[in-house]
Parts: sequence; C-alpha cells; structure tokens
Amino acid sequence: METTPSPWQVAVEQFNTAASQLGIEDYIQHRLAECERILIVTFPVRMADDKVRIFTGFRSQHNTARGPAKGGIRYHPNVSLDEVKALSMWMTWKCAVVGIPFGGGKGGVICDPTEMTSVEVERMTRRFATSLQGFIGPESDIPAPDVNTNAQTMAWIMDTLSMHEGHTLLPLVTGKPVALGGSLGRADATGRGVSFVTAQAAKHLGIPLAGIPTIVQGFGNVGSTSAFLLHDLGCKIVAVSDVYGGIYNSAGFDPRQVMEHVRKTKSVVNFPNTQPVTNAELLELPCDLLVPAALESQLTGQNAPRVKAKMIVEGANGPTTPEADRILNDKGVFLVPDILANAGGVTVSYFEWVQDLQSFFWTEEEINARLKRIMDESFEAVWGIAQEQHVDMRTAAYLLAIGRVAEAERVRGIYP
Ligand code: NAD
Repeated sequence: METTPSPWQVAVEQFNTAASQLGIEDYIQHRLAECERILIVTFPVRMADDKVRIFTGFRSQHNTARGPAKGGIRYHPNVSLDEVKALSMWMTWKCAVVGIPFGGGKGGVICDPTEMTSVEVERMTRRFATSLQGFIGPESDIPAPDVNTNAQTMAWIMDTLSMHEGHTLLPLVTGKPVALGGSLGRADATGRGVSFVTAQAAKHLGIPLAGIPTIVQGFGNVGSTSAFLLHDLGCKIVAVSDVYGGIYNSAGFDPRQVMEHVRKTKSVVNFPNTQPVTNAELLELPCDLLVPAALESQLTGQNAPRVKAKMIVEGANGPTTPEADRILNDKGVFLVPDILANAGGVTVSYFEWVQDLQSFFWTEEEINARLKRIMDESFEAVWGIAQEQHVDMRTAAYLLAIGRVAEAERVRGIYP
C-alpha cells in the first residue's frame, strides 16, 4: 500500500502517465516535468507584540509557453516548495484544459493566519508582495486568492506594488474586490464551475441530480458556493465539513443556513439537527456525489475502497492520490478531475484580467454565460477524448491539456 505521496510526486506521476500516452518529444516531456522558474523568499514582519518574525514564501512558475503564469497564493502552515510546485503544474494544465491563454503559477507563505491579527496578515502580505516585485506582473505572472487568502489580500498586493510603480496596476492580480477592478462573479466562479460540470456529468451519465445525496468537504470559498449551487440544482446536501469537523443528516439540510451558522460561530460544527462526523468519516458516508473542496491528498489508497460516492467532482486541487484514483476507477466511480472541475475560478480570473486591461467591465450575466460556455465546451472536449480513447476523465483532461501545452512549446521552438 502507498505511503501518501507528496503533491509534487502526484503531479509528476499524473503528468508522466499522460505524456507517455501522447508520445510527445522527450525534450518537451522533460521540460514539462520541471518548473520554469521558482522564487524562495524569507522576509521579516513586525508582529503585534513588537517582536520581529521571519516568514518564508514561495512563487513557482511551472510553464509560460501559452501565456503569463497564473495561480493563487496560499497562506497555510503546511505550505512547502513541493506543494507550491505541484499546484503551479496543475495550473498549467487547468488553463490549457479550458483554453485560456495562461501558463501555471502558484505561491504561498508558511504561516497560520488564523493565529495572526488582521494587521499582521496585512503587513506580511505587503512585505511578501514586495519580495515578489519583478517576479510577478500583469504580463508575466498574475496571482489570485487560494486557501486562507481572499479579495482583501489581493487588494493589499495590488496596492503595495502600485505604490512602488507609482501608478495603479489593476491587472496585477485577480480575485480583487469589485471596487478595485475585480470582476463580478469572481467570488462564486469556482463553485459555479463545479456546479456546471456536475450538471454536465449527470446529463451524460443519465443520473438525475434531483434528491441525490451529496457531500462537500471544506466549506470555504469553493466548498460553500458548490454546496449552495448544487442545492439549487436539486442535490440533497447531507454532509459538509471544515477544518474543525463535519456535520451529517441523511435527510439533508440547506447549506445557506449552515453558512448563517458559520457566520455566527466560525464553523459548521454544531449546526442544529445534524450529527458530528470527523473529516475522515465524512468521505466514507453514504452518498452519490462527493465534492472534496478542502485540501490535497484527502482520498488515498487507505480510504478509497470505502468511499461510497458514484460521482466525485474535485473542487479542491489534488484531493485524490494516484492509488486512490486507480481504486475509484476500478470501482466504476465517475470522477471529474480538478483541472477541469475547479477551472471556473481561473476562467473568471482571466475575464477579470481582460476587463482590467481594457478598462471595460462586463455584466454578471455576461460573465456567468461566458463561464458556462467555456465550462460546458471543456467538459464536452474531455468527455469526447475519454470516450474515444477509452480512458478515465483525468487522463482525458491531461491528454487535452498536455497536448495543447506541448504544441505551444513545439511551435515556439528553442531559443536561441
Ligand atoms: P478556503 O480557505 O476559502 O476554504 C478552505 C476550506 O477547507 C475551509 O472551510 C477550511 O476550514 C477547510 N479545511 C482546511 N483544512 C481542512 C482539513 N484538513 N479538512 C477539512 N477541511 C479543511 O479555500 P478555497 O479557496 O475554498 O480552496 C479550497 C480548495 O479549492 C483548495 O484546494 C484550492 O486550491 C482549491 N481551489 C480554489 C479556487 C478558488 O477560486 N478559491 C480555485 C480552484 C481551486
């Protein structure tokens, strides 16, 4: 049985499996199995008690053949170079799957923002942004929110580098507040995309969504919005969780009421008329649809045999290890992979960047309609490859994405 592999090991294994099937040139395969550029920074921040603490942060640009690097910035105690590299590689494939002209990037700072004051988080963010100056930029690498970062974080990054440049740099980051060149629909975009691909999967598989028992792990940006919109599509939300634990009621509940509870208590735990479950138990509860929307490596060789879901839609990045993938596939579970399922966020980030560059903003209806078209077409393209080549949806998504990135590398040629 596997020991849980690191995210980078997972990312490289997934890549090599698909790349070998595509038969791309060796030099392109070697190039895409590594990251193009990586920056490691350490920087001091004066904390509320007047002591100075040193933080470590990373930014990885996996590939920029198809356009500037694009990807979130994460604040978490477990952030590591290995994780940031993996997440940047997944971003390359994600942007390619949905056909937007970006490469893959990702960043993070090792910290626990839940233990820091808002002023400390702001200082750390502004100093990290300063450390990234010259490495990120509207034409080279465009950050966005990820775990424990949000629109406010992006506003601080944008303001800091705008102050240094001497003028306002709207397209520097996406996922900004709407008051600051952010896009309507961005906050909901990832969860909305999850709901679009779930609807497509259900249609293609002939599974009606009405009343199907559904579990969502993680109740942050992606998890909560996915739960709301799946509930709107008729799914019966029977369990959700956050870092503190999970709640379960086989009769279902309204996730928007859970959010009201979270606003008051900071957690889903103790929501009335539900029984408590751990995050590990949650993944194995009876359900038809499972949406992991927390962190990576949640479905492993250990728990996959006991997972009951018939359909898994990966809201999180990298929630399934390769061994779990094989087990779930053998059990006939239909899995919509992260690089397709959660691509709604980066797609609307692309819309935000385009709007900022043009200083011309679209309505929410236009944004959601364009997002739906891209998600539906991308699902259709991946489904088509899966059917034609008799492969699972993850392999199909990788074949599509790696094929597009390899073609960009090929036609760009070798400089000098
Ligand atoms: P978030 O910080 O808003 O929410 C994360 C949620 O997961 C919170 O509810 C948190 O309590 C919970 N959580 C944290 N650790 C957990 C654990 N060990 N077990 C169970 N729950 C845990 O983050 P987010 O933006 O919703 O991101 C969630 C996932 O989706 C990440 O994998 C991220 O990379 C991915 N993602 C995010 C976006 C986006 O637009 N925000 C886009 C694509 C993919």
